[in-house]
Amino acid sequence: MAQTTSLSGITAIIIGVGYGGLSASIELALKGADVQVFESYPDMTKQGDVIQVPANATRLMSRWGDVLSQTVKESALPTVLAIQNKDGKLLLDQQLHTEFGGFPNIYSHRGRIQKRMYDEAVKHGVRVNFGAAVTEVFEEGDSAGVIVGGVKNTADVVLASDGVHSRTRGYVTGAVERPKKSGFAVYRSWFPLSQLQNDPVTKPIYESKKDLFQIWIGENTHAILTTNRALQTATCFVTHKDLSDVVEDWNLPGDVQDMLACVEGWDPVLRHIIQSIPPECLIDYKLLWRDPVPKWVSNGGRVCLLGDAAHPHLATSGTGAAQAIEDAATIAVVLEKLGKQNVPIALKSYEKLRYERTSLTQRMGWETRHVWHQTDWNAVASNPDFLKLPQPAWLLGVDAVDYAEENIEAVKSHLLDGAPFQSKNVPPGHVHEDWNIEMMLSHEGKKVDEDFYKTRE
Ligand SMILES: Cc1cc2nc3c(=O)[nH]c(=O)nc-3n(C[C@H](O)[C@H](O)[C@H](O)COP(=O)(O)OP(=O)(O)OC[C@H]3O[C@@H](n4cnc5c(N)ncnc54)[C@H](O)[C@@H]3O)c2cc1C
Repeated sequence: MAQTTSLSGITAIIIGVGYGGLSASIELALKGADVQVFESYPDMTKQGDVIQVPANATRLMSRWGDVLSQTVKESALPTVLAIQNKDGKLLLDQQLHTEFGGFPNIYSHRGRIQKRMYDEAVKHGVRVNFGAAVTEVFEEGDSAGVIVGGVKNTADVVLASDGVHSRTRGYVTGAVERPKKSGFAVYRSWFPLSQLQNDPVTKPIYESKKDLFQIWIGENTHAILTTNRALQTATCFVTHKDLSDVVEDWNLPGDVQDMLACVEGWDPVLRHIIQSIPPECLIDYKLLWRDPVPKWVSNGGRVCLLGDAAHPHLATSGTGAAQAIEDAATIAVVLEKLGKQNVPIALKSYEKLRYERTSLTQRMGWETRHVWHQTDWNAVASNPDFLKLPQPAWLLGVDAVDYAEENIEAVKSHLLDGAPFQSKNVPPGHVHEDWNIEMMLSHEGKKVDEDFYKTRE
């Protein structure tokens, strides 16, 4: 095992205050690094709605002061996922794992968690600059940096958590590519649960003593309802085909009538829920994607991608935020283990420890959606479990810190001496295969053989 060193001599610049940037800030600052963050938004009022934070992420968050304990108090902890067809006929009551290793699978509010993470980062000395768009990234000698407002800022390392639209990604990979349309969009709403109180059709949802998680599936479309008793809120999403040219924006208003049109003739309960959504609580969110890319570290070795900048996930994976948090924890470990004088090899180790896992979790989002949108009703008739939301132990039961600590020497030998290295944070026996969006889109609208799926349990 490598000698443990502190990060007290290391300076880091982080781009973005999403979950990737904030978790990296906390992880590095907790180990003593000097961390400065640049965020283009003027503040954190662009908050989003519900976000799923599974056990592999809450395990890491549990080390951040009271961030997790406070978050749990305002989270939904559903025990069952009710999967129904479009008429509302129950196909499967999936009993959900509510925890792994004592760490909860929670559904909470993105903005509230983000604010707690921000406060924790600041408490540990992280300096966050809002309204500070990074216009250029550079490397020179033993340092890397960013240009903000024409001013050069340098550090030992630049961590680019600049989201799905990442500009740093082009700097790192050398390829000029933009996020691609996934062909789908989601009407997303987050509204007071009391909206469901006065309609007799939706009243039972309002009165339920449990956090509800329900899904309706139909061809090329699915709808999701979640309720959060602690916050007295509900969310209703409809994912549907979309061929428009508008790009992803978390603030694009949606239209309730358009949302209803996507589920014409579906279960009246779902339609009544949608009719209860206050117009100002609905957004129309276009789902964007990027191909998995194996290169996350710049040629100079001091700039790396993390979170959605490296691997944007579809919402149906339920693990985009968690993978960003795992990235952050891994970076902190590799920098600590290999030290300031070995930043390039440390970041390459991070990439090796993470790429095959996230390539698979990105694919999981497409696979789950495909199972729900192109349902093989014969397979479902003989085994309704086919429809399950995957909650595999290889994903939710892993401690990214332990994994990085246990594998850093083997990865280093792999990178420096060509020793074989086999990822173990993937399903047992999994053999990595590269894939891209075009390949997946070619299967859109068609059933695929069961062995095409790599992430079904
Ligand atoms: C406003 C918003 C709302 C969201 N709401 C939800 C939600 O409700 N549910 C959900 O599941 N997921 C949501 N997401 C996505 C989710 O947060 C991410 O998929 C996941 O957590 C990974 O986070 P990330 O830090 O990699 O990326 P992001 O959360 O996208 O954060 C990237 C950050 O980088 C900043 N940035 C980008 N370019 C620059 C630049 N050049 N200079 C400085 N800063 C830059 C962006 O402003 C942004 O704050 C939302 C994302 C955003 C930006």
